[in-house]
Amino acid sequence: MKLASFRDGALTTWGLVQADGVQLATSSLRAQFPELRDVLAAGAVAGIPALLAPERLRDPSSLHFAPVIPEPARILCVGVNYLAHIHEMGRERPDYPTLFTRFPDSLVGHRESIVRPRLSTHYDYEGELAIVIGRAARYVRAENALDHVAGYTCFLDGSVRDWQRHTTQFLPGKNFPGTGSCGPWLVTTDEISDPDSLVLQTRVNGEILQRAPISDLCFDVRQIIEYCSGFCVLNPGDIIATGTPSGVGFARTPPRWLIPGDVVEVDISGIGVLCNKVIDEENPS
Ligand code: MG
Repeated sequence: MKLASFRDGALTTWGLVQADGVQLATSSLRAQFPELRDVLAAGAVAGIPALLAPERLRDPSSLHFAPVIPEPARILCVGVNYLAHIHEMGRERPDYPTLFTRFPDSLVGHRESIVRPRLSTHYDYEGELAIVIGRAARYVRAENALDHVAGYTCFLDGSVRDWQRHTTQFLPGKNFPGTGSCGPWLVTTDEISDPDSLVLQTRVNGEILQRAPISDLCFDVRQIIEYCSGFCVLNPGDIIATGTPSGVGFARTPPRWLIPGDVVEVDISGIGVLCNKVIDEENPS
């Protein structure tokens, strides 16, 4: 099942994505579950298709996608988690996952513009698989970790490299507003029983710049959940981006920085394609 969040003016809504259209949540369903993460928290995902069955199909091209979970309590990101990317960034294989956080306003939804900030031209792409937590997790063992996953989505960990490398702390370079994205939808675990079977590809203007199987992750989905649930409570709707493979713009000769007009696609088999176009941040006049 595919579930997505949408913007309707100032409102956020959600719906079920079918092959031939989107069924938006009714007002009575939104009264019960205002946001998609409320559906996850209530353990109500399996019943959603029956509740939406009479709703008419909407053309997805007429809808404005929001990030899959518009305001997650936590957005955790694993850095340098594919061996080839660790080498291209000039780092050593870590003993523990490298983690940083992103603020919700650093992410936009599918087909929204991503923003090259005024303070830098070193704006880079990182295509990633993201985990959406479905059941609260604390002190979870790796072998049980997938029981806490609602599903998976595509993630663009857009990075401002000079600000990322000011110090050893990644946070500034990962949090400029609107530099990343998450979507287009969440694919539930009944359709993806083994995340290691997925393959990720990042394209810029149609050119394939990153390609890797998710099975190449140093710390896999299960290990990431075990580690993160050790130091914090993971709640329904929390997002964990799992890291990016090699091929980022920073490591190319010459570097391949994103510029306005570039179209970035994060394509994961079994999920779909997250697509965003780069614009420049407006200068205040
Ligand atoms: Mg990343």
